[in-house]
Amino acid sequence: MAVKITEECIACNACEAECPNTAIYSAGEPWAIGGEEKETLSEDFTYVVPEKCTECVGFYDEPQCIPACPTEAIVMDEDNKETQEELMKKKEYLDEVGR
Ligand code: SF4
Ligand code: SF4
Repeated sequence: MAVKITEECIACNACEAECPNTAIYSAGEPWAIGGEEKETLSEDFTYVVPEKCTECVGFYDEPQCIPACPTEAIVMDEDNKETQEELMKKKEYLDEVGR
């Protein structure tokens, strides 16, 4: 499961620095994978790219962004459920292609 950012976000950017997968981007910012730039997922809010979030699997036991958020704006994304194995595969894929 990826995490997602809710409307409680005040765009402080504290979470971006904590993400080992560079899965968090500021509003309007394009995201990237494997050196390829993709269109922003939100013009208005700081956002998480589900294709890059591994819930920190492969790096840490817990998502690092959640405790970093001062407004508790980061929650688990129930629409993007994945097993530990799938999350680890995603991490390994990112290792291969580049974050
Ligand atoms: S849970 Fe981990 S990988 Fe996912 S966005 Fe937060 S810090 Fe990044
Ligand atoms: S740490 Fe929380 S408030 Fe700050 S940018 Fe991230 S989600 Fe938004």
